[in-house]
Amino acid sequence: MTTLTQQEDVILRVENIHKSYGNVEVLKGVSFSVRKGETKVFIGPSGTGKSTLLRCINQLTIPDKGQIWLHGEEVTHSKKNINFFRQKMGMVFQNFYLFDHLTALRNVEIALIKVKGMKKDAARDKAMEELARVGMDSFAQHYPSQLSGGQAQRVSIARALAMDPDVMLFDEPTSALDPELIGEVLEVMKDLARGGMTMLVVTHEMGFACSVANEIMFMEEGTILESGSPEKLLNAPQYERTRQFLRKLTDLYGELGKVNG
Ligand code: ADP
Ligand code: MG
Repeated sequence: MTTLTQQEDVILRVENIHKSYGNVEVLKGVSFSVRKGETKVFIGPSGTGKSTLLRCINQLTIPDKGQIWLHGEEVTHSKKNINFFRQKMGMVFQNFYLFDHLTALRNVEIALIKVKGMKKDAARDKAMEELARVGMDSFAQHYPSQLSGGQAQRVSIARALAMDPDVMLFDEPTSALDPELIGEVLEVMKDLARGGMTMLVVTHEMGFACSVANEIMFMEEGTILESGSPEKLLNAPQYERTRQFLRKLTDLYGELGKVNG
């Protein structure tokens, strides 16, 4: 019975994903599944395929092989318009990708109007609601150039949330931020996780991982080398490569689990 319930709860299933660029195999068969409300954190050395994996999930990059299922519906090789799935998987990038010539409010409402076909007033209300959710409603009329990196990132989170996604994908959302701005973005993400949002997060902010991740996946050279609860992965990693990588993180960020925790 437990197994059945668990399977029913699975919102996203990634099966045997492969991706090569030229002769270089960047993803070598990645599989995992995510249940509703779970937060999974991906860590691992640079160039190991973490961004490629997230991009394959929402089909910004088309995998060579393997399948992705959202709510039991296949995303890969689907006859549906890819925008259907993209709306259901909100993506947040390291560099925000806001439109510079649009206010924060317009950045959030534009997809509601153009993609979802919402009426202007309804889109505005919804966009304001999402800006409030990330603590940015009082900056609605500001342009990206008038925002700090942390504020801009919160607007880009609001923009993704506005589409009412089933899953949020974050690719190193705080890596481009000055240290003093990281906390405000992580707080928003923690609130989302605690509020039941399903999230996949590439980050080396281990304080965040320890406080909200159900599972940490250590990626290396295109595979998930090992995964487990934060406690298990950080305290008792199985592989020497994982231990080495965690040691590097400790050197960079201090004692793991205590950063921005
Ligand atoms: P990570 O996010 O873990 O740092 P990436 O997924 O960005 O790793 O990259 C994995 C590897 O794939 C790197 O060697 C990178 O240079 C290569 N790569 C990523 N995107 C492309 C692309 N569009 N064309 C060619 N090579 C790419
Ligand atoms: Mg990356």
